[in-house]
Amino acid sequence: MALALTGVLPQPRVATLARFTGTDGGVVDEGLALFFPAPHSYTGEDVLELQGHGGPVVMQLLLRRCLELGARPAEPGEFTRRAYLNDKFDLAQAEAVADLIEASTEAAARSALRSLSGEFSRTVHELVNRLIALRMLVEATLDFPEEEIDYLKQSDVHGRLESLADNVRQLLGQARQGSLLRNGLHVVLVGQPNVGKSSLLNRLTGEERAIVTAIPGTTRDALCETIQVNGVPLHIVDTAGLCETEDEVERLGIDRSWKEIERADVVLHILDAREGRTSLDQDISIRFPAGTEQIILFNKNDLTGHAVCREELNGQVALWLSAKTGEGMAALEEELLRVAGWRAGNESVFLARERHLAALEQALTCLRAAKQAGSIELLAEELRLAQNALGGITGEFTPDDLLGEIFTRFCIGK
Ligand code: GDP
Repeated sequence: MALALTGVLPQPRVATLARFTGTDGGVVDEGLALFFPAPHSYTGEDVLELQGHGGPVVMQLLLRRCLELGARPAEPGEFTRRAYLNDKFDLAQAEAVADLIEASTEAAARSALRSLSGEFSRTVHELVNRLIALRMLVEATLDFPEEEIDYLKQSDVHGRLESLADNVRQLLGQARQGSLLRNGLHVVLVGQPNVGKSSLLNRLTGEERAIVTAIPGTTRDALCETIQVNGVPLHIVDTAGLCETEDEVERLGIDRSWKEIERADVVLHILDAREGRTSLDQDISIRFPAGTEQIILFNKNDLTGHAVCREELNGQVALWLSAKTGEGMAALEEELLRVAGWRAGNESVFLARERHLAALEQALTCLRAAKQAGSIELLAEELRLAQNALGGITGEFTPDDLLGEIFTRFCIGK
């Protein structure tokens, strides 16, 4: 391929100046050809990399020639999939490639890199190895049932199970933080018209994106902006004011607001500090989905003289602030991070995905069940299931259809 395309066979890993020929044999571009022989390439296979001047027409001519010579376009994530299949890295590291590319904050990129370098996988492997050692002990006991109790006691199986569960729990904590960095938090601004939702969005994002007017009902569509606080992405959604209305368009906006509220991780219920919590506000908050975190914000506090503060009202956090002057905003950001479960100064975060969290939770459940198992057989079975769950993270026990799903989400060319 390299010879037919460039007329030269580039030396391994040396950038070689070459002329790229098109289908008619004419030169279409001049650039660099780089040859990475297997296994020292990203995929672990022979790789030829061409660097041209770009431009869609030249690229198409070059691509056509490559296809003519027997190449085919790569599928999304195919390079990384091949690298994974050729044992260049494990599944968690392969996922970290996509997460690194898609990272929306510096902190997310840093923790994706930590997973890519294998730190996450190493921790998982270490846990798997300890599990295997424990399984060997237990399975050996299966063959000598009369000695089982003494033998298990002697080798402190319960203590080892306990310490293993502690470490899985610790890793789950780090992974949960990483999952926050990856997915961010959906924060929805809710309240009656004119309480200052759009002003608050503008204050949080530091830009005049939402239209602020003194006319109630200005925001009819939900507006979403992503900001980052301490590296955690917060997707802030401004919604149409909730009120009784005959206006058809306003009604549609309100319906959409409720849909946003249902998707929210945190609802910021904004009130006018001068009015306090009206009966309509009480009707609104009653409809919030159970289990959704809520923070009450008494906005326009600059007009009341009330101290800027945080209080808990019937177990619910309320903050006094002003979108206009900005007072109380730092406390709001702090509160959002607290609700998100973010712990500051945590450097050992791994950019985890939902499936990693689910696997760690599954392993923890099995370890708990193992501790309470009534028989050695059950204990052995729970340990086996725990190992399968952990193994799924790095790809040791991963069904093909899951692999397909993971790699097709990559962008083309990666
Ligand atoms: P929304 O309908 O809830 O989105 O409310 P807006 O953000 O459009 O604000 C309605 C009006 O209240 C505008 O005139 C804002 O300037 C004013 N406003 C919003 N927040 C504050 C605040 O903290 N203090 C004062 N004094 N006025 C505010």
